[in-house]
Amino acid sequence: MANLPKMNELGFFEIRLESIGGLGANLAGKMLSEDGVVGNGLNGIGFSSYGSEKKGSPVKAHIRFCEPNTNIRDTTPIERPHVVGIFHDALFKTIDCTSGIYPDSTILVNSQKSPDELRKGMDIQGGTIAVINATEIALEEQTKVNTAMLGALYRILDFLDPDSMKNTIRKTFEQKYPHFVEPNIRTFERGYNEVEFKTYIPEEGIEPKPFKRLEPLLGYETMPLGGMVVNPGNSILKDLSISRAGMLPHFHDSKCINCAACDTACPDFCFVWEERADKRGRPQMFLKGIDYQYCKGCLKCVEACPVEALSGEREYNDGYAEVNRVPHLFDLVKN
Ligand code: SF4
Ligand code: SF4
Repeated sequence: MANLPKMNELGFFEIRLESIGGLGANLAGKMLSEDGVVGNGLNGIGFSSYGSEKKGSPVKAHIRFCEPNTNIRDTTPIERPHVVGIFHDALFKTIDCTSGIYPDSTILVNSQKSPDELRKGMDIQGGTIAVINATEIALEEQTKVNTAMLGALYRILDFLDPDSMKNTIRKTFEQKYPHFVEPNIRTFERGYNEVEFKTYIPEEGIEPKPFKRLEPLLGYETMPLGGMVVNPGNSILKDLSISRAGMLPHFHDSKCINCAACDTACPDFCFVWEERADKRGRPQMFLKGIDYQYCKGCLKCVEACPVEALSGEREYNDGYAEVNRVPHLFDLVKN
């Protein structure tokens, strides 16, 4: 049986996964809790919380482990995690992912950035930052980021046996999706081997970071009439970049025939047009490019384009594709 390295006052080792719909955090949480119990002899529980089941909406997975003789009478969301797994570094923009951590908690982040760069974006005093480029691994292995994150988590949770998780991966996929078994095991192994760590020593006497519960802004007395959008400038402030899974469409202007098939396929109105004169001097709408602030990287537009004027490319470190970015009012607001 595995020995837990730390426990809270109720006898639990607690893990919280912070993610968005579509990256597989819910499944990762289920597999982790199942493997801790069935494969490693611990007692434990795992559950997720999410809103609408829509790609891009926030998801949290909560996993609690304890000794087999401890009764689990606590099924509340995890407020004080020993380990946090963050499935997309852009989540810091909208969610306080490190809420409630201890001064020596470990924070695993899927990112291309270094631990020092990530620390600047997170409000933390000390602890260990672990970084894995799970998106790159998942794209190369044709899998999802969740098994790469699980691999990195098993380096952190060294009381759990990685071979036992490989069996859990096999059991999870072999019946319905047997062709996913080997790529997911490779993804898990790469996550385990490629994760990097940096530890920051907290100053003496630092208190754990307080947990902040997000209170709903609207209740039954303050709710506006149905169908009303009350937040001002909401289309300027909307930012779908956290919904992306590492790929973006690139626009190749010279191939475009301005047929608007991409605009029809796009669910988020990302395409920007301008009126110019055609060869005969008549006014016509020409596609100018893609506004990446609104793009969630679904690549439906790439499939829709009849002349390959759009291609799916890897997203770069600054969160935008390198070419054909249309400047948007949002940039003016931000700067
Ligand atoms: S990938 Fe294409 S279709 Fe999907 S949101 Fe972005 S621009 Fe629209
Ligand atoms: S579908 Fe392709 S060719 Fe048509 S407007 Fe869009 S990018 Fe241009």
